[in-house]
Amino acid sequence: MASSTQTPCLTCQRLRKKRCPGITNNTGPCDECARLHLECLVPELRPRFRRPEWFNDNQKLTRSREEIRAWTTSRAPREPHDILALSEILSNTSPDRCRKEM
Ligand SMILES: [Zn+2]
Ligand SMILES: [Zn+2]
Repeated sequence: MASSTQTPCLTCQRLRKKRCPGITNNTGPCDECARLHLECLVPELRPRFRRPEWFNDNQKLTRSREEIRAWTTSRAPREPHDILALSEILSNTSPDRCRKEM
C-alpha cells in the first residue's frame, strides 16, 4: 500500500487552523469540510507542494475566516450540495464588501 499518508486540506489547515482528518483519494472533501459544507481546498502536490497565491494574503485569509464563521454559525437549512465557495472568496481580487478599515 503506497497511499497511506493523509494530506491535510488547506481549508482546515490554513483557513480554520484545525486538525484536518485528511483528504481521501487526493480529491477531497475531507470529513471536516464535508460536515461543515465548506469547499475543501486541496493543495497542489504535484510535482511538489505549492502554496496557493492567497497563502500569505492576510486580507483574503481574514475575509475567508469571517465567511467561514458566518457560514458555520448559520443555522439555515442546507442541501447536501450547498457548500461555501472558498476558492471564489480567495480568488476575488476586487473586494466589494471588504474595504480597507484599518
Ligand atoms: Zn480538512
Ligand atoms: Zn477539507
